[in-house]
Amino acid sequence: MARYDLADELQKKLDAELRREINRLDVIGFDELNAMTIKSKTEEMVERLLKANAAAFKAIAYAAMKEAVEDLDNLYGTTGKAKEIPTGSKEVDKVLKAYNPVTDYLYYPEADRKRSRLSEALIVALMLDSREKYHYQLRKFAHLWHTQTKQYGDTIVDTFRGDTFKANGIKYVKWQSEHDDKVCGICEDMDEKIYKITEIPPKPHYNCRCWIEPIEKPDNKRPE
Ligand SMILES: [Zn+2]
Ligand SMILES: [Zn+2]
Repeated sequence: MARYDLADELQKKLDAELRREINRLDVIGFDELNAMTIKSKTEEMVERLLKANAAAFKAIAYAAMKEAVEDLDNLYGTTGKAKEIPTGSKEVDKVLKAYNPVTDYLYYPEADRKRSRLSEALIVALMLDSREKYHYQLRKFAHLWHTQTKQYGDTIVDTFRGDTFKANGIKYVKWQSEHDDKVCGICEDMDEKIYKITEIPPKPHYNCRCWIEPIEKPDNKRPE
C-alpha cells in the first residue's frame, strides 16, 4: 500500500455505490415522479453519498497518517517512535470545510449545488417527457460527483500526510512527481524541489499524483 492506493481502492467502492444510487433513480417511472418527489429523492441520495464519502475519507486519513508515520521512522531509522495524529470524523470534516485550492470550491456547498442542479435538470426532463434527457442528467451528475469525491480523497491523503510530518517536527519536505510519461510539465518541473512544510504549494491540478517526502535538515527535530 502506498500513498493513493487505498484512496483509489475505496474510490472504486464509492463509484459502485454511486452507480447503484443512479440506477435506482433511473428506473423510476415518470408517472411516479413530480417536482417534489425528485427534490426529495435527490436530497436523500446525496445524503447517503455524503455519508459513504465521509466513511471512506476517514479510512483514507488514517491510512495516510499511518504511512507518514512509517516514512518518518524509516527516515530516522527508528521503529514506532514517530507520533500519530488524530484522524477522526472531526479532523476529516475540518479538511472538507476548508477552502480547497485545487477544487476552488467548498465541499458541502458544492455538493448541494450539484444536487440542486441535478434536481432542476431532472424536473425539466420530466416536463419534456424525455427519458433520454433524464438518463443523461443522471450520468452527468455521477461523473461530476465522482470527480469531486476523487479529488477530496487525494486532498485528505495530502493533508494528513503533511500534518503528520508537521506534528513530528519536520520542517522541510521534498516534492516528488511520478516518473512516467503521464506526468505533466508543471509537475515534472516541481520534482525534487524542497519546500518549507508551511509553504508547500497546492497541487497544480486535479488528479495530480505527486506527493511529498520528509527530509532531514539540521533543524528537523528527531523524535525522542
Ligand atoms: Zn501534473
Ligand atoms: Zn503532480
